[in-house]
Amino acid sequence: MHFDLTEEQALIKKMMRDFSEGEVAPGADERDRTKQFPKDVFEKLTKLGVMGLPFPEQYGGGGADTISFAITVEELSRVCASTGITYSAHISLGGAPIHLFGTHEQKKKYLTPLCTGEYMGAFGLTEPNAGSDAGGTQTTAKLNGDQWIISGSKCFITNASYAKNLSLTAVTDRTKGTNGISAFIVSTDAPGFTCINNYEKMGLHSSNTTELILQDVTVPKENLLGKEGHGYKQFLATLDGGRIGIGAMAVGIAQGAYEKSLQYAKERKQFGQSLSFFQAIQFKLADMAMHIELARTMVYKAAWLKDKGRKFKKEAAMAKLFASEICMKACDQAVQIHGGYGYMKEYQVERFFRDAKLLEIGEGTSEVQRMVIARQIGC
Ligand SMILES: Cc1cc2nc3c(=O)[nH]c(=O)nc-3n(C[C@H](O)[C@H](O)[C@H](O)COP(=O)(O)OP(=O)(O)OC[C@H]3O[C@@H](n4cnc5c(N)ncnc54)[C@H](O)[C@@H]3O)c2cc1C
Repeated sequence: MHFDLTEEQALIKKMMRDFSEGEVAPGADERDRTKQFPKDVFEKLTKLGVMGLPFPEQYGGGGADTISFAITVEELSRVCASTGITYSAHISLGGAPIHLFGTHEQKKKYLTPLCTGEYMGAFGLTEPNAGSDAGGTQTTAKLNGDQWIISGSKCFITNASYAKNLSLTAVTDRTKGTNGISAFIVSTDAPGFTCINNYEKMGLHSSNTTELILQDVTVPKENLLGKEGHGYKQFLATLDGGRIGIGAMAVGIAQGAYEKSLQYAKERKQFGQSLSFFQAIQFKLADMAMHIELARTMVYKAAWLKDKGRKFKKEAAMAKLFASEICMKACDQAVQIHGGYGYMKEYQVERFFRDAKLLEIGEGTSEVQRMVIARQIGC
């Protein structure tokens, strides 16, 4: 057992650190202020060849492991969480269900353009009345000859304005409960499909969060993803992987907030001393450093288990839960260390603080993670 990154993982970390500092960080505040999607950043990420990083080379992916994916999300989020969530959702919500459950034909048609960065990946599970209780899905799909007719709505869907196709869940047989939910690949250009980008969010302003309305949207029979009635199980498996992405985002944001706080504490003087001289401030920084170290280890371990083909549900839930909660705490302490300046936009920790909150909500709230862990430990 050892804790070193492989040569390839270390190279990816260096590449993503350089890219994030050079290409992502400079415009992050401006994009946050203007709520502008990081389109130019994603054009450059496409050129860098990481849009399909953990997917097979056969479909245009990078053939890398989940740890490399986590490192990429972490490095992007360290400077711009909006870019981090956009990338994480593209891979772990957009590409993963097609990779895990798609046929060879579906992968060729729908995974390849995601890997080559032609458009963004997205995944529609949440509905106005089905959030934590995703089994309460109300969107329906009815088979009519060779076509499925889908009607309903989805809310809070990341990336959908920039997706040509996306996966979503719908009820195909209401009498079967969660075994009557199926997944489909749907074209966002289809007649009856409306994507509304109108939310006023707390943070992650330059990420794209949308509402989807489907009015008798038809998709070919072959766009069923996986088996009919398996949609619920499939999205639970998808979310297990997605939680590694959210955990990695949390580590990245916390790391960014910590580094800014350490630097500020060394530079800012009060009572004739740098803030870093005061033990109260040292202890905050020490706690941040310790929590980040633990969270990163947990995220990488969950990713490692996934790469080994072992069970990782419990570890992914633990990593996501712990990392998102320490991230929120680290960002809170970062604002505190910056004092009044921390409350202003100029030192960026205010943006980190707003962005961090989503991590305790998305891809299963903290309460839901505790429910998952409790079930896994046999409660
Ligand atoms: C910016 C953003 C991006 C998102 N992106 C996507 C996306 O790409 N695709 C997608 O499908 N969804 C997405 N979501 C939706 C997200 O996954 C849901 O918001 C989340 O799962 C919670 O669902 P909810 O908002 O309906 O809250 P609710 O389920 O209504 O929960 C409200 C509160 O009640 C608690 N609660 C609920 N049930 C229980 C229980 N049994 N025991 C204890 N407490 C409970 C919750 O933990 C929470 O604190 C996104 C959300 C946001 C804000």
